[in-house]
Amino acid sequence: MSDRKRSVKDIEPAGKHILVRVDFNVPVKDGAVTDDTRIVAAIPTIRYLLQKGARVILMSHLGRPKGGPDAKNSLAPVAARLERLLRQPVAFAADCVGSQAEGAARGLQDGQVLLLENLRFHPEEEANDAGFAGRLAALGELYVNDAFGTAHRAHASTEGITRFLRPAVAGFLMQKELDYLGRALDRPARPFVAVLGGAKISGKIDVITALLGKVDRLLVGGAMMFTFLRAQGKATGRSLVEEDRVDMARSLLEQAAARQVELVLPVDCVAATAADGSAPGHAVPLDRLGPDEMGVDIGPGTVDLFAARLRDAKTVVWNGPMGIFEVAAFAAGTLGVARALAEAGGRGCVTVVGGGDSVAAVQQAGLGEKFTHLSTGGGASLEFLEGKVLPGVAALDDAEGA
Ligand code: ADP
Ligand code: MG
Repeated sequence: MSDRKRSVKDIEPAGKHILVRVDFNVPVKDGAVTDDTRIVAAIPTIRYLLQKGARVILMSHLGRPKGGPDAKNSLAPVAARLERLLRQPVAFAADCVGSQAEGAARGLQDGQVLLLENLRFHPEEEANDAGFAGRLAALGELYVNDAFGTAHRAHASTEGITRFLRPAVAGFLMQKELDYLGRALDRPARPFVAVLGGAKISGKIDVITALLGKVDRLLVGGAMMFTFLRAQGKATGRSLVEEDRVDMARSLLEQAAARQVELVLPVDCVAATAADGSAPGHAVPLDRLGPDEMGVDIGPGTVDLFAARLRDAKTVVWNGPMGIFEVAAFAAGTLGVARALAEAGGRGCVTVVGGGDSVAAVQQAGLGEKFTHLSTGGGASLEFLEGKVLPGVAALDDAEGA
C-alpha cells in the first residue's frame, strides 16, 4: 500500500454531490456539544469543498448506539454547532440512508451542506455490509474520507463505500495525519527517538516492536516501565506490573540491544501508597521503592535524564503519559517530558504525539501549539505506528506516481 493518496485538491468538486466521511464523534450533554475540537478539525475540508461550489453531504458516527436510533446519540446537536462554525445553514437528514436522505441530498444547491444522522444507527455500518455501503454511495458522485480516527476500521462508510464510489480521496485532516505520521516513520531525521508510556505494556507490544526497528533511542516511562524493571530483576513494590508480560519485556530488552537501539529506563519515580492521589507522593531512586509503595510517575531525575536524551533529537514520536497524569500531584513527569519536547520543537525537531491520553496531556499543559503534530487518531494512530495497513486509508485512490 502506498501512504500517498489522492486528496481533495486532485478532484473537481464544483456542482458535484460529494460524500464526506468525517469524525464528528464528539461529547454531547443535554443536547449540546461540549467539545467541538473534532468538528473544528474537519472545517478546512468542508469549507474548501463549499467554496469550490460542491454540494457537500457529511456522514459520521457518534457514540455506541445499540443497533438502532436513540436520541442520546443523535448528530442533530452537531448540525447546530456546525452551522455556527461555518456561518451558514446545515441541512439535517434524520436517517443516513433511505428516501429522507436521498431527498435531502437531491435538494442541495452548489455550496450547500447536509449532515446525515448517525451511521451507527444501522448495524450494517460496522458490519461493513455491502448493501448498506451501496445505499450510502448512491447519495454522492465522489467520496472524501477525512475521518482518520476511524480509518483503522473497515466499516461501510470507510471501506465498503469505496467499492461503489470513485474517485475516493483523502480530506485535508486525513492527509495531514498521513503526511506527519508517515514522514516521521519513513524518512525520519535522526536521531529518531520514541518516548513510550501509558498503563499497559500488553496494548503496546506491537508499537514497541515496530518502533524498535526504526528508532535510534527508546525512552520508557509510565506504568510499563515496571514490567521492564521486573524483567531486569529489580524490585517494583506494588507498582502495576503485568506478570504475564515480563518475558516479553525481557525479549524486547534483548531485541533493543541486538538492534543497537538505546533503551533508556527511568532512574527514579514518584512513590505513593495510593493511585488516586489520596496519599501524597515522594520521589525515590528506583532501588529505594518500598514494598508497600507503587510508582505513579517518573521522578525528577528521570525527567532530567529524558530531557538530556531528547536534546539532540531530530524526530520524536511520543505515545503514552509518563505517570497517572489525571492526578495533578502525579503529572509532573508527563509535563516535564511535554516541556522537553516543546523545547526540542523550538530547535527544529519534528515532534509527533499519538494516543488519546498523551494528546490530552499535551493540550492540558497548554503546549499543543508547540508540537509539529498532535494526532487526532487515538487507536488509528497507534495502529499506524505499529506499521499496520489502515483499511480506510488503503481503500483510497493512490496519488499519481505513488
Ligand atoms: P494513550 O491514550 O496516550 O495511548 P494509554 O491509554 O496507553 O495512553 O495510557 C494512559 C494511562 O496510563 C493513563 O490513564 C495513566 O493514568 C496511566 N498510567 C501512566 N503511568 C501509570 C503508572 N505509573 N501507574 C498506573 N497507571 C499509569
Ligand atoms: Mg488511552
